[in-house]
Amino acid sequence: MHELSIAESLIGILVEEARNNGIVRIKKVKLQIGELAAVVPESLAFCFELVSRETVAEGATLEFESVAVVGFCDKCDESFEVRDQFFLCPRCGGPVFELVSGRELSVSSIEGETGEENGANQSSCCS
Ligand SMILES: [Zn+2]
Repeated sequence: MHELSIAESLIGILVEEARNNGIVRIKKVKLQIGELAAVVPESLAFCFELVSRETVAEGATLEFESVAVVGFCDKCDESFEVRDQFFLCPRCGGPVFELVSGRELSVSSIEGETGEENGANQSSCCS
């Protein structure tokens, strides 16, 4: 079940992003998942819930956006959408030279609270 390792690396990214942006609690995460990434959203959401416990991302909602598979043909110098795993150029019938998108799994946005409203003690910092 590779969703578990995906969820773990996702937490790593989120914790890092939250730290960089001063987010104390992540509420919503938008993910882009390529159709070839072979990720089951429900399964990833389940694993995410497990591994996000006691992290800044605990209780965050995941939103999934699926990314179409796009191939590129070097003969025609054209990119096109690949449907139903049909990896041939619609123009010349040759094999797809390169995949432009479809395998990605990336965080497209994060929403959270920065916790600035309770900044009573802002002057002292603990670097
Ligand atoms: Zn072609």
